[in-house]
Amino acid sequence: SPIPDYLTEVLDTCTADVSGTVADYIPELAAADPDRFAVALVTADGTVYSAGDTEHAFSIQSISKPFVYGMALDRLGFDAVLEKIDVEPSGEAFNEISLEHDSGRPLNPMINAGALTAHALLSDDASPHARGEQVRSLFSDLAGHDLAIDERVAASELTTTYRNIAIANLLRSYEVFFDDPEDVVAGYVRQCSVSVTVTDLAMMAGTLANGGIQPRTGARVFSRPTVRQVLSVMATCGMYDAAGDWLTTVGIPAKSGVSGGIIGILPGQLGIAVFSPRLDRHGNSARGVVAFERLSHDMNLHLMDAP
Ligand code: GLU
Repeated sequence: SPIPDYLTEVLDTCTADVSGTVADYIPELAAADPDRFAVALVTADGTVYSAGDTEHAFSIQSISKPFVYGMALDRLGFDAVLEKIDVEPSGEAFNEISLEHDSGRPLNPMINAGALTAHALLSDDASPHARGEQVRSLFSDLAGHDLAIDERVAASELTTTYRNIAIANLLRSYEVFFDDPEDVVAGYVRQCSVSVTVTDLAMMAGTLANGGIQPRTGARVFSRPTVRQVLSVMATCGMYDAAGDWLTTVGIPAKSGVSGGIIGILPGQLGIAVFSPRLDRHGNSARGVVAFERLSHDMNLHLMDAP
């Protein structure tokens, strides 16, 4: 197949772009090797194509958010989740203290306020270890093999996560949830610290592309309506405050994270993941965005194009 050569060429043409900086607000992330670069595609029938540093592991960070939102939807149903987390783009940074005026309801599940709330909706047991395990197990089902939590990253983020604790306290004060805010943050930090490769991420994205069925194991991980809801929110809110720019240029639902990963989904067809740690001013992987623009152009991925 010519696809691996094509992917290698995409990486080669984007490698010269050394713009942006590695996230440094979590000490373990500041230690990332900035030159790592990898891409993987998974088709809806489970074929994997990849190039670059495909074995390199990194923490999932905010790419965890759509999947945890999906788990909350499948557990509690749409109405119950919508009562707690709205689906409106905020146009704000991921860690914005962004809550609706009267209710305190977070604007969407992709910013931290909404992601902390989705995490709290996972179970009645608020123990960070129980919820961390629940998430680790979900992500393993999505990836098709056992994943682990990187305890160094989790411990590192816990030492600096004052802002998330502030957001969680606000959510608690508005009675969006009733759990101990510090427990919610500690569980959420474990969620963000699950260790993945670019191929794992592509497989997780491929499960969304395949209507919620893991393309290799055949396991149903999410219901179809949940996948539609998750992809819709990713399309409008997945790329921090550059979501509109992304939808016009790349044109597929996506989610990025501060460790440098981006996933994108072409429904019915492809899960895509790119990894490169240097971030642009919006917090999206700089080379990742360029690589996705290239893939979208070359493979006609943009959802708003007539076929
Ligand atoms: N653990 C990170 C935080 O909440 C995730 C941020 C991200 O990837 O956007 O600060």
